[in-house]
Amino acid sequence: MNQIGRQSIGQQIVEILRCLFPPPFPAGLAELASPRAPRFPLSNGRALAYVSWLISATMPSVYIKTYGCQMNERDSEAVAAQLVAKGYTLAGSEATADVVLLNTCSVRDAAEQKALRKMENVAAELRRTRPGVVLGFLGCMAQSRGRELIDRLPDVDLVVGTQKFHRTAEYLDDLLAGRRDKIVEVAEEDKSEAAIREHLLYGQGAPSSKFKPQVTAFVSIMQGCNQYCTFCIVPFTRGEERSRTISDIVAECRELVTRGVKEVTLLGQIVTSYAKRELPPKEGKSPFVQLLEAVHSVEGLERIRFTSPHPKGYGDDLVEAYGRLPKLVESAHLPVQSGSDRILKLMHRGYSRERYLGLVEKLRRTCPHIGVSTDFIVGFPGETEEDFEQTLSLAREVEFDQAFIFKYSIRRDTPAAQMPGQLPQAVKEERNQRLLALVNEIAARKYQRLVGQTVEILTEGPSKKNPARLMGRTRCNKIVVFEGAERHRGQLMRLRITHAGSFTLHGDPATLNGD
Ligand code: SF4
Repeated sequence: MNQIGRQSIGQQIVEILRCLFPPPFPAGLAELASPRAPRFPLSNGRALAYVSWLISATMPSVYIKTYGCQMNERDSEAVAAQLVAKGYTLAGSEATADVVLLNTCSVRDAAEQKALRKMENVAAELRRTRPGVVLGFLGCMAQSRGRELIDRLPDVDLVVGTQKFHRTAEYLDDLLAGRRDKIVEVAEEDKSEAAIREHLLYGQGAPSSKFKPQVTAFVSIMQGCNQYCTFCIVPFTRGEERSRTISDIVAECRELVTRGVKEVTLLGQIVTSYAKRELPPKEGKSPFVQLLEAVHSVEGLERIRFTSPHPKGYGDDLVEAYGRLPKLVESAHLPVQSGSDRILKLMHRGYSRERYLGLVEKLRRTCPHIGVSTDFIVGFPGETEEDFEQTLSLAREVEFDQAFIFKYSIRRDTPAAQMPGQLPQAVKEERNQRLLALVNEIAARKYQRLVGQTVEILTEGPSKKNPARLMGRTRCNKIVVFEGAERHRGQLMRLRITHAGSFTLHGDPATLNGD
């Protein structure tokens, strides 16, 4: 097509759009009436730019705020990617969005209260200034509370459970077109575990030259959990274990690599139970280890991580995989929760203190420099001072690289909520402080030991705290900040550690390789 022909098509489209949106212009198209509106004749490029501006100005914009774990982050990213594919745009904040979605967490009461307060504030502000805005809850709290959320907050239009994420665009289309008034969708859906696959790779920012694609990505491999730990609401909010196929996961990893990803983190509530019911063990290898091998074979992929495993599912085949799969980085998150056998039993964790310590020892024998992190719960019902002392002694014995401590929080419908011996908040707080002081002191010592050593990092991009510097992660999952250049993004580099801060290492730019 020649220049004149294309130009006239562009102009014709603009004319059609002007007819479709005559004055008074909708809010998003106010520019049509302004002196900045394009005047004919338009150049070919200007006409196309104008058309794309008009289209984006007429498409609803969505803001998604995420609470909770990496699974939720991944779910939000997939929902955002699905919405963008349908033509929605992403807003930078709720203040400018046509749709505000809160992807919620139910693991602790505090997380639920935070999301509820946020929605109350958003509704109070936006309903006053922009009554047409659509407000919705997604995720775990949406699943566990369902319609109760709309009864409590009548301004909410949409409640989407954990097996319906992939239908969010459909529901929004219906609400925005006025076909439905309020939507609550929390039913189970067959094969929904395979629906979290789209990636944005730009975070919540709109893709533009300002945003460079990520070099790391989360890949959801399964949903749900059958372990039923007595404190945990996850089996109720995420349902029974359901796994994607190995070929599906590998295809997603391959596609990510073609888009510049170098490291994937395989995600699930209990990844060590991956496909336990669907796939038989092969040559003594569990389905999860079979999956690791398959992902390991993806060419161009440099590193593999996974979270969260369950200590009881950490068989010898998985320990041994660290020794023979070079892309599997030396990092293990092993949630222990308590150092007391009595409490572990009440929690229904399925392992003893001795078995847990044996596992850490085996891992360290296979990989002497492996980074080991954990989760603790303090103040579980009936936890005595003696039980807590055993948790402290386990923390001293293992010397975790990092530990996340949670004060026990009653979750309705869980067995622990009915247990006798619920502890006062002050006791939970005091134990939290004591354990925190201990794990921080141990971690600081371990970080200090790395000073002077040379480590391999994968450079991810600008540091969050200081965007003038770059950050990457060691294979053991420690953050290293250093002075580098944009060309280092996505590179595996060796850095000498000059000093250690609080959960951050600093690398020496003078020893940079890979220029
Ligand atoms: S294994 Fe993890 S997700 Fe499953 S019930 Fe226990 S704590 Fe919850």
